[in-house]
Amino acid sequence: MLSISRSVEIQFNDSRVRVERIMADIRSEEDGNTVLLIGGVHGNEPLGVLAMDKVLADLENSGNKINGRLCAVVGNMEATRIIKRYLYKDLNRLWTRENIDSLHYNQLDLRHTEYRELKELYDKLQELIGDLRGELFVVDLHTTSGPTIPFMVTNKMEKCRNYTSKFPIPSVSGLTGFLDGTLLSYVNDLGYVGLAYEAGQHKSEQSLTRFESFIWLSLHHAGILTGLTSEFVAFHEAALTEPQASSGRSFRIISRYRIQEGEDFRMQEGFANFQSIKQGQVLAQNQNGPIYSPYDGYIFMPLYQKMGEDGFFIIREDD
Ligand SMILES: [Zn+2]
Repeated sequence: MLSISRSVEIQFNDSRVRVERIMADIRSEEDGNTVLLIGGVHGNEPLGVLAMDKVLADLENSGNKINGRLCAVVGNMEATRIIKRYLYKDLNRLWTRENIDSLHYNQLDLRHTEYRELKELYDKLQELIGDLRGELFVVDLHTTSGPTIPFMVTNKMEKCRNYTSKFPIPSVSGLTGFLDGTLLSYVNDLGYVGLAYEAGQHKSEQSLTRFESFIWLSLHHAGILTGLTSEFVAFHEAALTEPQASSGRSFRIISRYRIQEGEDFRMQEGFANFQSIKQGQVLAQNQNGPIYSPYDGYIFMPLYQKMGEDGFFIIREDD
């Protein structure tokens, strides 16, 4: 059986770092909340990992103490190594009850790399949950193929909404009903706070700086980094604040277009994330012709890449 690399090199512009699966696991003596930062769940999205590395180094240099526990991990090591979204299966669709049960009963085919990645992450998550001495916050860092304003994905649970409302960024809930097996939905189902943050495009310098600001704020708002000055917090809040009208608003998903096996799906060019759309508007094409929007709303995560099975989502603003 092939094994997963113990470390992986990330290269971006002038930065080159080598990281292990568990990038950090810092605990204070006193009780406190736990934050699990995870980057590289998709292997073609290494900037989250790079930003975690940077913040961890800055944190160490600053002498700031963690009150509680901070754990930072790489999601899909093998896919990150070859800079592909995934090798065999999308790691962010594997967190289903069925797979977790198969893991428990040793029925999961661990010859497939992503199942082994799942197992290693699952074991770490179980360890964190077993040792909790406060709340758990899971922050999952992603980037997108197309340009987008940054946004968060979470669910409707009050403590999730309380957490996401502290960031000056739009949030979208309701993905759980349409997408099976995301890490986020798994964490939410267990009753813990979880969010996915989409910082922008895969190779954008801006995504990297946004990640850094987001990570600082996620630690601050989770209450495990109390030593930050108000100027420092304000600086990173300003860095994340976008002029867009959607900033800080919360939306819910009302529809998903799932691409069928063998379908020749092509998203209509030019859609921006959170762009307003009308019922009957052409959103995409396939071998049978145009695909029309069934609703008024906003387009969300239009697919402008080859891999992936979700063509687009439609969202509406929460009341
Ligand atoms: Zn992703």
